[in-house]
Amino acid sequence: MSAEKSSQSRLRTELHLHLEGALTAARALALASAAKGVPSPPAGAVTGGGSEARWAYDDLGSFLRCFGWGTRLLVDEASYLLVFDDLVRSLRDDGVERAELFVAFGQMRRAGVDPRSILPGLARRAQEIDDEGGPTIHFIADATRQWGVREAERVLDAALDLQEQRIVGYSMGGDEWSLAAREFREIYRRARAAGLGLSCHAGEGTTAESVRSVVEELRVQRVGHGVAAVEDPQLLRELADEGIVLEVCPTSNRRTGVWSPDAGVHPVIPLIEAGVRVVVGSDDPAFFECSLSREAALLEEWGVDDEGFDRIERDACRARFANPLP
Ligand SMILES: [Zn+2]
Repeated sequence: MSAEKSSQSRLRTELHLHLEGALTAARALALASAAKGVPSPPAGAVTGGGSEARWAYDDLGSFLRCFGWGTRLLVDEASYLLVFDDLVRSLRDDGVERAELFVAFGQMRRAGVDPRSILPGLARRAQEIDDEGGPTIHFIADATRQWGVREAERVLDAALDLQEQRIVGYSMGGDEWSLAAREFREIYRRARAAGLGLSCHAGEGTTAESVRSVVEELRVQRVGHGVAAVEDPQLLRELADEGIVLEVCPTSNRRTGVWSPDAGVHPVIPLIEAGVRVVVGSDDPAFFECSLSREAALLEEWGVDDEGFDRIERDACRARFANPLP
């Protein structure tokens, strides 16, 4: 059995994946040519054309320009469904059985789009996919930290209105340096009281303190990335003791410059060794050209063995917000 094949058969639960990050360059060009009033892609953001088109960027700034331009093309149910169907095809090819997708409610609202006009269509499609044999897909409403508490609150209001539409969690991404986690404490308290699972991006390119703040102030069960926690042995012990799950995305870290192989082993390995629960995610697979099986292949290369993969998959099944295993 090849390394990739054996890895693919082990990880089947994807918990850190942005729906908008599944927008391929080919799909974006097709949407742009059909849309009115959308400017051309930023210079050099796309190479090739047609089905051969690829995103091109070489640092975090140019990546964010690609991502920002691409997501401006997602303005209605039809465009979201196209991206969703593209993603489902690649998840099936990859052997993924369950996924919880971040949907950028904050970004939608910024573009003048009400998530209530998008989610029912996605939920109907997710049900059809279930009926066709899967993967089983649920959604997490994602707010953007730097756009402030009031906006994050409106994202939660929309999420609560849409709980029947496969919304199982509330999360926040964006600029970790912008506003302190404690500002969002009341919003997370409301989300928890309503039965939503809680996640927050923290410790991606920042500090262990940023991870600590979302665990202590927001009481999240899962942290998006969280790799900066490796800097603080005391925090690692606390994360392990409390069973907090870090959603680690090695290829994403490489492509955005959060981690480089020149810096030594990826933090996922010391995190596992410290007994912290980790799951693995592809983050923005169309932009980073990765998949869950490719992330698994990396882990295998770095020495994660059968037992390690079993543990990651089991932790993912226990940490998922939709029907978690006990
Ligand atoms: Zn992410």
